[in-house]
Amino acid sequence: MTIRLGLVGLGKIARDQHLPAIAATEGIQLAAIASRNAGLPDLPYFHDVDALLASDTAVDAISLCTPPQGRFEQAFAALKSGKHLMLEKPPGMSVAEVEALGRMAREKGLTIFATWHSREAAGVEAARAFLADKTIRSVRIDWKEDVRHWHPGQQWIWEPGGLGVFDPGINALSIVTHILPEPMHLTASTLDFPENRHAPIAASLAFRTMSGAPVEAEFDWRQTGPQTWDIRVETDRGELVLSHGGSRLAIDGVQRMAEPDREYRNLYRRFIELVGSGQSDFDLSPLIHVADAFLLGQRRVTDAFHD
Ligand code: NAP
Repeated sequence: MTIRLGLVGLGKIARDQHLPAIAATEGIQLAAIASRNAGLPDLPYFHDVDALLASDTAVDAISLCTPPQGRFEQAFAALKSGKHLMLEKPPGMSVAEVEALGRMAREKGLTIFATWHSREAAGVEAARAFLADKTIRSVRIDWKEDVRHWHPGQQWIWEPGGLGVFDPGINALSIVTHILPEPMHLTASTLDFPENRHAPIAASLAFRTMSGAPVEAEFDWRQTGPQTWDIRVETDRGELVLSHGGSRLAIDGVQRMAEPDREYRNLYRRFIELVGSGQSDFDLSPLIHVADAFLLGQRRVTDAFHD
């Protein structure tokens, strides 16, 4: 069976990644677009997900590529109409709203897939396998990029629920929570808010694993020049470095992996498998850590930010 997909929110990530990944994946077919300001030639178009769901265009599943604010209502409508659901990261604005969606999907026997695209980066599974039988001594995450380059004009990202620097930072957390052989919890958080914005531009976080190893994370949106998306793990038997957002893996300085990006193709393949087997994939741990960072966060006010 080919899944007929309705894509909601035709913005940057939908165009850059979802459309090519869907086109390259057997077993799923783009059947409609719902977006207030953009459509595609020769494809049924709707202003929003409600209009799509009320139409006679047949879809089996909905992929939400909208900002996190407003996702709950869109996801609720999709599940209520009996559609399987794929959520861009972060899966929503709050932990409770996303948990409620998970419960709703379960009760209706529908697939819900809270995607974490960075977990599909080329080096991540090999990193997880390497760390599985090691003792973790320490972890250091540096996720530093230039917000002006990556998010020009995206106002939602600075609004409550838009996560600010955690929009990329949650990708690092999605990798670390996947590769470490034990859970971690937050012990301290400092958040830098520009005086004219509602979301942090930088964050310093300290976590501890269950066996007491420190995990430090520095997220910063003010980095110009070379960009940094690195995770360094010291173990009892070697040092692992995942760089370039997880696509490169080195162990004790020896490069083990550097492959082209197939993150979104992997996500759609996984979604097809999940729908086919009647399962869901719904790990909220990265979002929980972000919520904790706001709960424990000591707030510092910094200079105003201008696009
Ligand atoms: P974007 O470029 O702003 O696109 C989002 C689209 O959603 C907009 O084009 C807009 O299309 C629609 N939309 C619906 N309600 C909206 C609202 N209230 N405010 C703004 N747009 C609204 O954002 P994006 O970068 O694609 O990010 C979307 C999601 O993907 C986010 O959760 C983000 O974290 C995730 N993501 C982004 C990237 C990336 O590199 N950009 C990478 C991975 C994941 P209409 O105006 O036509 O409705």
